[in-house]
Amino acid sequence: MRKVLIVGAGQSGLQLALGLQSQGYAVTLMSNRTADEIRSGRVMSTQCMFDTALQHERDLAVNFWESQAPRIEGLGVSVAAPGSHAEPGGSQRAIDWVGTLEGYAQSVDQRVKMAGWMETFAQRGGQLVIHGAAVSDLDFFAGRYDLTLVSAGKGELVSMFGRDAARSPYDAPQRALAVAYVHGLGPRPEHPHFDAVRCNVVPGVGELFVMPTLTTSGRADILFWEGIPGGPLDVFQSVKDPDEHLATTLELMEKFLPWEYARATKVELTDANGTLAGRYAPTVRNPIGRLPSGGLVLGVADVVVANDPITGQGSNSASKCAASYLAAIVERGEEPFDEDWMRATFDRYWDTARHVTKWTNAMLAPPPEHVLDILGAGGRFQPVADRFANGFDDPSDFENFFYDPDAARAYLASHG
Ligand SMILES: Cc1cc2nc3c(=O)[nH]c(=O)nc-3n(C[C@H](O)[C@H](O)[C@H](O)COP(=O)(O)OP(=O)(O)OC[C@H]3O[C@@H](n4cnc5c(N)ncnc54)[C@H](O)[C@@H]3O)c2cc1C
Repeated sequence: MRKVLIVGAGQSGLQLALGLQSQGYAVTLMSNRTADEIRSGRVMSTQCMFDTALQHERDLAVNFWESQAPRIEGLGVSVAAPGSHAEPGGSQRAIDWVGTLEGYAQSVDQRVKMAGWMETFAQRGGQLVIHGAAVSDLDFFAGRYDLTLVSAGKGELVSMFGRDAARSPYDAPQRALAVAYVHGLGPRPEHPHFDAVRCNVVPGVGELFVMPTLTTSGRADILFWEGIPGGPLDVFQSVKDPDEHLATTLELMEKFLPWEYARATKVELTDANGTLAGRYAPTVRNPIGRLPSGGLVLGVADVVVANDPITGQGSNSASKCAASYLAAIVERGEEPFDEDWMRATFDRYWDTARHVTKWTNAMLAPPPEHVLDILGAGGRFQPVADRFANGFDDPSDFENFFYDPDAARAYLASHG
């Protein structure tokens, strides 16, 4: 029986651990927190996952919360008319549409999912070690396993994996992130029975994402500001009190996005750990880490490709990475997991991930005219809105109409 060590129990590490376990591998999973600590800890993400990523969970029959989590049927884009927040009557919407997703999306609070998956892994006989691994631990343990995978997210172990400058155009955070989980949010009045991710853009200032989720206390909604650093939304870093975090979130909504604020006047935090603030630089890394004694480890998901959450792709990518690595491990049979195999395994994942990185990095920059044209056309032509929305499930489609001005014009002309 081949032995695999997985360090880090997030979306990718747990999905891989459960997948390998079901294929008969002897899996040891190292986590720096227990299931109870994760469940009662701070929120970590907004974790909206689209159909392809959700299907990987269904394939492993670990979609335990699918029937309880709200079904997100669409993805909407609303753009505030530039400067209009300073006008009497508040901000107006220059663009406002919602695209329909071909398969629904869902967000299950990672506190619920990771705690539940970790317990399942242990109940099925997996070796669970609660320990915050250092490089020296990996050096000690790695030789006892056929393969060591590092799926520790954006934690300190990333220092083992060198930054790939050619694939990382930004060397500093591009957004300040501020998340609040709330109960009591009303529906968008124009679609009272239709759950959607709402992407609200305030040009030159940042974005507010609003989406339903399943959290530790049932259905809730998430208010997620992405602020351009140094701008008016970049005010959460010094806020330590969760009530102040929510009050600040709402004040900014009232100022910049009154249509979202209008349905948020009665909200309250789901729990004292229902807020999160932070920032990080989007980074692609060399996928192979070399231990002091010469052993090799393979990085997984955020360890090797961490994009800004502006496009809500990290958990999706973690699921896709875990599925891709699982297939590569099983296909390898009894052959050694050597450097060539590690490189080929990452390259196979990068073939998908590169589209996510390209699109996400593009969305962080001010939109060029042809992108504004596409977003504007979403309000006039439903197929354009639908195509943009479904790009969140498969960002490779953006290659066909989004980056190149001529391709965008040709696509829009076909609707004119
Ligand atoms: C504010 C915000 C909003 C987001 N919204 C979305 C979204 O809507 N959709 C989406 O798809 N993605 C979203 N993401 C991204 C997504 O959450 C991550 O990309 C995804 O969780 C990455 O999965 P992972 O398995 O690589 O790492 P993680 O989920 O980060 O898991 C890593 C695990 O390893 C553990 N760990 C760390 N160091 C060690 C160590 N030394 N030893 C042992 N364990 C360790 C950590 O505690 C953690 O449990 C968002 C991220 C943020 C910050």
